Amino acid sequence: MIDLTTQYEQFGISKEVYSFGENILSSLKERFRQIDETAEYNQLKVIRAMQECRVSEACLLGTTGYGYSDVGRDTLEQVYASLFHTEDALVRPQITCGTHALALALMSNLRPGDELMSPVGKPYDTLEEVIGIRPSKGSLAEYGITYGQVDLLPDGGFDYDGIRAALNDRTRLVTIQRSKGYQTRPTLSVERIGELIHFIKGIKPDVICMVDNCYGEFVETIEPTDVGADMAVGSLIKNPGGGLAPIGGYIAGKKECVENAAYRLTSPGLGKEVGASLGVLSSFYEGLFLAPTVTANALKGAIFAANIYEKIGFSVFPDGAQDRHDIIQAVTFGSPDGVIAFCQGIQAAASVDSFVTPQPWDMPGYDSQVIMAAGAFVSGSSIELSADGPIKPPYAVYFQGGLTFPHAKLGILKTLQNLMDKGIVTADFHRAK
Ligand SMILES: *Cc1c(COP(=O)(O)O)cnc(C)c1O
Repeated sequence: MIDLTTQYEQFGISKEVYSFGENILSSLKERFRQIDETAEYNQLKVIRAMQECRVSEACLLGTTGYGYSDVGRDTLEQVYASLFHTEDALVRPQITCGTHALALALMSNLRPGDELMSPVGKPYDTLEEVIGIRPSKGSLAEYGITYGQVDLLPDGGFDYDGIRAALNDRTRLVTIQRSKGYQTRPTLSVERIGELIHFIKGIKPDVICMVDNCYGEFVETIEPTDVGADMAVGSLIKNPGGGLAPIGGYIAGKKECVENAAYRLTSPGLGKEVGASLGVLSSFYEGLFLAPTVTANALKGAIFAANIYEKIGFSVFPDGAQDRHDIIQAVTFGSPDGVIAFCQGIQAAASVDSFVTPQPWDMPGYDSQVIMAAGAFVSGSSIELSADGPIKPPYAVYFQGGLTFPHAKLGILKTLQNLMDKGIVTADFHRAK
């Protein structure tokens, strides 16, 4: 049998890079222990929800056609409702991605003349077209739904005065994005989301508070619906799918909100009654079962990367010591070469498509070239080890996922080796020049 360092050497990772990583890891024991504790708590939460809802072997089978009386689908929705402590949930493969889930929640709960408001600044890129911030066919704007936005204060705090002023008679729904996404603002903790909702409902009790929960599920022991959110919305090819769900999205929330979404997803009159689950249910159940530990692995990867690159002298966000509220890690390399070397390192560590070398390309919808590393079992899944970066200043790379920590570790060590081979990191582990 060969030893571990030889195993790493077979991936082109030197003994020096490996032991640099080991040193960093030994300083992270307490952080990792806390993450394991959260995962343990959430694992029990998931199992309890499944037991309470009496998940049975029959639930793992699917239906075809109209999908009437799909016991597995209906039970899974109860499991989500139980887990999020909500009245109801919609969890479907017919919800194609996170953007679709969010668009569905918005379009089904807003009516012409209503106003949508974001009290936490600009929403995720793809929502700009849903809302109509960037003109788009079928946007909320086309249906006469207006949009208001209050930015966070420069220190990341809520602009309470601005929010009070922006809430008006027509404000029907408030959208709160938990994760920073690809911005530099801090990610919101569930506690802070609760404070914000409390403030908003104090002014306008009937307003619907929706949380874009993407990348946030299971990072903490509570979810936004535990602190007053009327709806939590997310993608199954991120945290809650546990890497196994091949498609899907969810909306967990108040009965009326979920009902509206169901009538919009299928048809008025049909709602939740139709929608065959085909063969995906067992992966939805098993993915949810794995999600707490998968999320923990991704978090450990993010923290490991932050500490490695911080030590070398690159700016990292969040920093190595900060509390985590989502799984995204940004590292600023300050040069295109750094971004490219990092992404190529992630790709080289993949099980699928490890032999391809990602290159920057002109991706539709972006104002600069973008490079993406994704060797995933589920196409585009960002709970799997993945990274991407726009080729423009400040030359930052956004890194997330890792279904297992050993894989995340391999990927991160491979990025470091790559940066070193290219002379971007010196042999004594400093930022070059
Ligand atoms: C990923 C993401 C979305 C959109 O999800 P897609 O599945 O890519 O459509 C929306 N909001 C946030 C915060 C996200 O991270």
